[in-house]
Parts: sequence; structure tokens; C-alpha cells
Amino acid sequence: MSIFAKIIAREIPADIVFEDDVCLAFRDIAPKAPVHILVIPKKPIVSLADLTEEDQAAMGRCVVVASIVAKQEGLDNGYRLVVNSGADGGQEVPHLHFHLLGGRKMSWPPG
Ligand code: AMP
Repeated sequence: MSIFAKIIAREIPADIVFEDDVCLAFRDIAPKAPVHILVIPKKPIVSLADLTEEDQAAMGRCVVVASIVAKQEGLDNGYRLVVNSGADGGQEVPHLHFHLLGGRKMSWPPG
């Protein structure tokens, strides 16, 4: 069971900012920006590479939830939504997650 599955199951604590039947959003434990929230599907999908057609609605919901949470956090000047996928993508936790980053100007290209 991944660490995020344990957060969904309330086996370990997290600062949860949004929850519905499909998604959970909680603050990143090591924030890389003034606002750093992870939006995850409750279904234990490992990475973008593991998505199937049946995940389309859940992925759409996660993006909508990120937009809702960004408004909730007052990120009116913009923000970034990032998914790291696999080893080259820099993914560390094997449960698909969207990083919502905001509260500062982001640079491009990413490292
Ligand atoms: P990634 O490198 O894309 O897999 O991102 C994993 C993210 O999960 C990192 O930004 C970590 O800081 C974050 N993280 C790891 N464990 C926890 C936790 N228990 N609660 C909240 N965020 C976590």
C-alpha cells in the first residue's frame, strides 16, 4: 500500500483541503512553493502510464478539483499543475498525483 493510499484510508495523517467520492487533496509535506497541494484520485493508479479509458472521468475530476482548490487558496494570479510520471519524470510516490503549486512566480523550463 502506497503512502497516499494510507492517507486515503486515514491510516496516516494529512492536512486535507478537499475530498469527494473520486479525489482527495492535501498539503504536500515538503512544500516547494507557498501553496503546494497534491490532488489524487482515490483509485490506486500508479502513474499516467497506467491510465486506461475507464479513468477518464476520474482524471477530469482531479483537474476540476485542482481548479476548485486553487480558487479556495486564493491563487488568483495563476498557478502550475504538474504530474511527474515514472523515473525520468521524477515521480517518487507510486500513486498518481497532481501537484498544485502557487503563491510565487514559476520558472520555465522545469529542472
Ligand atoms: P513526486 O516526486 O511527484 O512523486 O511527488 C511526491 C510528493 O509527495 C513530494 O512532493 C513529497 O513531498 C510528497 N509527500 C510524500 N509523503 C507525503 C505525505 N505523507 N504527506 C504529504 N505529502 C507527501
